[in-house]
Amino acid sequence: MNALLTIESLSAHHGQLPAVRDVSLQVRQGDILALVGANGAGKTTLLRTLAGAHRASGGTVRWDGVDITRMPANERVAEGLALVPEGRRLFAGMTVRENLLVARAAGRRGQWSFDTVLDAFPQLVPKLNAGAGELSGGQQQAVAIGRALMTNPRVLLLDEVSLGLSPLAVRGVYDALRGVMGQGTTLILVEQDLQRVQAVASRIVCMLEGSVVADAPADQLTRAQITAFYFGVQRPDPAPGGGATGSANGEAADDASRAPQAHQTHQTHQAHQAHQTHQAHKEVA
Ligand code: ATP
Repeated sequence: MNALLTIESLSAHHGQLPAVRDVSLQVRQGDILALVGANGAGKTTLLRTLAGAHRASGGTVRWDGVDITRMPANERVAEGLALVPEGRRLFAGMTVRENLLVARAAGRRGQWSFDTVLDAFPQLVPKLNAGAGELSGGQQQAVAIGRALMTNPRVLLLDEVSLGLSPLAVRGVYDALRGVMGQGTTLILVEQDLQRVQAVASRIVCMLEGSVVADAPADQLTRAQITAFYFGVQRPDPAPGGGATGSANGEAADDASRAPQAHQTHQTHQAHQAHQTHQAHKEVA
C-alpha cells in the first residue's frame, strides 16, 4: 500500500536551534504510530511541522504523493490532516457545542459529525452548553479530540493527550480513541506512558535530539529496548545488508534477535550523557 504521508529528510528549527533533524518516515493508512522520546527530543516540533503550524527548514512532506511542505495549516486540515495540540488550546469562552461546531466548516465531509463525535465521547452530552473553560482536564481533552474529529481527518496528530490528566480520565480518553482507531483513522501520537504506547501502537518511532533513532513495529520492540533507545544507550551493532540494528544494553540485549531497524549516529552516544537526567527518568512510566 502506498504511503499516505511521506516525510523525507525533514528539518525544523527554533531560531538557530535544530529541533527536528533530517527525519524520514512513511505513514500508511491505518498506522497507529507512537512517537516517543525524552523531553526536548523534537516530537512536538515534528507534529507541528507536519500540521503546518511550524515551518520546515528543509526536506519535504508529501501527502498522497503531493508536496505539501509549504501548504498552510488550514489547507492541510481541509485535506484531512488534523492536530490535537499539547495543552488542548480550546476556545475557553465558547461552549462545548460551539467548540465542536466551529471545526465543522474547516474540514472534509465524512463519517464524523456532531452526533457521531458525541457517540464517541458521551461524557460531553451533559456538558454541551457549558463553557469549555469550566470542564475538567479529561473533558477538555475529549472536546479537543472531538473538535479535530469534526474535520474528518485521515491522519490525526495527537500531542500528549494524557498530559496532566488523572488515570481515570486517561483511560476514558484512550477508550474513546480505540473507537476512533476502529474507524480506520490513522494516528500519530506522542505519548510518554510506554505501557500505553505498547498497548495501542502498531508502530513505534523513537526520537533523540531531533533525529529518529528507532522505527519498528510495536510487537518487535520490548519495553527495555524502547527505554534504551529513549535514553540513547543502545550500542552500534551492524546488521547484514548495510542496515544498522540497534541492540540495547542490559535487559534489552537479551532480546537482540528481535531488535528493530535503527539509525545509529554519533549523537546517539552523546545523547546518552545528555538524557540521563532525573527528569527524563521520571517520564518513563
Ligand atoms: P516535550 O516532551 O518537552 O514536549 P518534545 O520532544 O516535544 O519535548 P520539542 O518541544 O519539539 O520536543 O522541543 C525540541 C527542542 O526545541 C527542544 O530543545 C526545545 O527546548 C526547543 N523548543 C521547543 N519549542 C521552542 C520554542 N518555542 N522556542 C525555542 N525553542 C523551542
